[in-house]
Amino acid sequence: MHSAGQVVRAALRAAARACVPGASTASVDAAAAGVIAAFRAEPLFLNHRMHSEGPSFPASTCVSVDDEIVHGVPGPRRLRDGELVSIDCGVRLRGWCADSAVTVPVGGASMTEPARLRMLEHAERLLEQAIESIAPGIAWSQIAERLERGARSRGYGIVTDYMGHGIGRDLHEAPQAPNAVLPGFREHDDFTLRPGMTLAIEPMLVLGGEPVRTRTLEDGWTVVVADGRPACHVEHTVAVTHSGVRVLTGPLRPTLREECAFAR
Ligand code: MG
Ligand code: MG
Repeated sequence: MHSAGQVVRAALRAAARACVPGASTASVDAAAAGVIAAFRAEPLFLNHRMHSEGPSFPASTCVSVDDEIVHGVPGPRRLRDGELVSIDCGVRLRGWCADSAVTVPVGGASMTEPARLRMLEHAERLLEQAIESIAPGIAWSQIAERLERGARSRGYGIVTDYMGHGIGRDLHEAPQAPNAVLPGFREHDDFTLRPGMTLAIEPMLVLGGEPVRTRTLEDGWTVVVADGRPACHVEHTVAVTHSGVRVLTGPLRPTLREECAFAR
């Protein structure tokens, strides 16, 4: 899974560097797809179906811009300075999966509204804190509560309609790992972290606080903030170890966003 995670990281790095003004979201996806193919990994989002009747996803990555939270479909849309682009990628390599996402500002920090940049930095910090609090014996609800409180206390909304998940042989496995303590979660769905568990952790923040409502566009995939506010999404695949945690799509620092900013 660590090997798969490093392919995902390389693909996301290429895609993040392709997020320049004027580039299409299809070209961002193509950058990642090239890396996945070079490693002979399987792009897990390509032809993925959410439901047996739903449309199959047409690309190797989800590229979600501004008010698009997740599952954005790459296409002809041209990126503009200051937009937030979240890229999400999952691959299988030699039978094992990894899943990670990064959000980058088009044109770099100088072209980005400070409030948007602060949201990105805060999302990365929350993900980092969640990962650092992972250890055997901890209940997921403790981590979800920290994520929720950490977002809302700073005035951000947190998306609860979509969430983290177990991962291993398949991209999406039990259990579900929400970013907030949903009603009934503690009573029915909470779980205790054990060595050997592998999870994808993926907070999604919305600028301007609660309430956050989401809506799916007519393409059957793209999930947007219903009232059009910008969002960001960051994700890592991690393994619980006997002593703590290992970030399989890491390292945590520098984040891919920071790496790409340094490269400009
Ligand atoms: Mg993902
Ligand atoms: Mg995921």
